[in-house]
Amino acid sequence: EFVVDKTFFINVIKDLKDMVEENRDYLSKLDSDIGDGDHGINMSIGFRGVIAKIEELQEEDISNICRKVGMILLGKIGGASGPLYGSFFMKLGVPVKGKEKIHFYDFYEMLKAGIEAIENRGKAVVGDKTMVDALRPALDEFTQAIEENKEPLEAFHIFVEASRKGAQTTIPLVAKKGRAMRLGERAIGHIDPGAVSATLILETIENNLIK
Ligand code: ADP
Ligand code: MG
Ligand code: MG
Repeated sequence: EFVVDKTFFINVIKDLKDMVEENRDYLSKLDSDIGDGDHGINMSIGFRGVIAKIEELQEEDISNICRKVGMILLGKIGGASGPLYGSFFMKLGVPVKGKEKIHFYDFYEMLKAGIEAIENRGKAVVGDKTMVDALRPALDEFTQAIEENKEPLEAFHIFVEASRKGAQTTIPLVAKKGRAMRLGERAIGHIDPGAVSATLILETIENNLIK
C-alpha cells in the first residue's frame, strides 16, 4: 500500500534544495538564452531560504509544511517563478489539511491543486512557452493513469515522463508569457527554463518515491 508521511516531505524538500544547487548554473544558462539569466539563482535563493527554516518546518504537519515552503519561496524569489512556485507549494497542502498519512489519491490531489495554482496565478496555457507546457500535460496524463487504476509508481512515472516531454515541446515555440515574450521569434529553438525546473522538481519527488 502506498502511504507517505511527514518524513517523506521533509526529505523531498532537502533533495529539492540539493537538486536546485546542482542545476543552478544550468537553469540560469537556459534563462540567459531567452530571459534574464537568473532562473537558477532565483531557485537557489528560494530553496536556501527554505532550508534555513528546516528545523521550524519539521515541527509542522504536512499541510503546513507545504504552505510555509510556499510562503518562503514567495518571499525570497524576486522573479516570476517566486509567486508561481510559491502558489504551487502553498496549494499543495490544502487537500490534506490535518492529515498525517498521505495515500496515493491524496498525493495526486495535492499535485493537482499545486499545478492548478500555477495556472491560476500565471494565467498561462499550453503553448505559451512556460512551465505550464510541462505541468498541464503531465497532470492530464496523471489523471488518466489514476482513472485507469494504474499502480502508484507507474502512474507517477507516466506523470514525470509527460512533464519531460512537455518541456521539450517548448523548444520551437514563441513565448506568450514571461520575459521571453520580448524576444519574439528569437525564442524559437530554446527550451523554457521554468518547464525544465518544473520537470526537475517532479523527478526529485519520483526519486524519493522509488527510494
Ligand atoms: P523572471 O523571468 O522574472 O526572471 P525566472 O527566471 O525565475 O523569473 O522564471 C522564469 C520562468 O517562469 C519561465 O521560464 C517560465 O517557465 C515561468 N513563467 C513566467 N511567466 C509565467 C506565467 N505567466 N505562467 C507560468 N509560468 C511563467
Ligand atoms: Mg529570469
Ligand atoms: Mg529575473
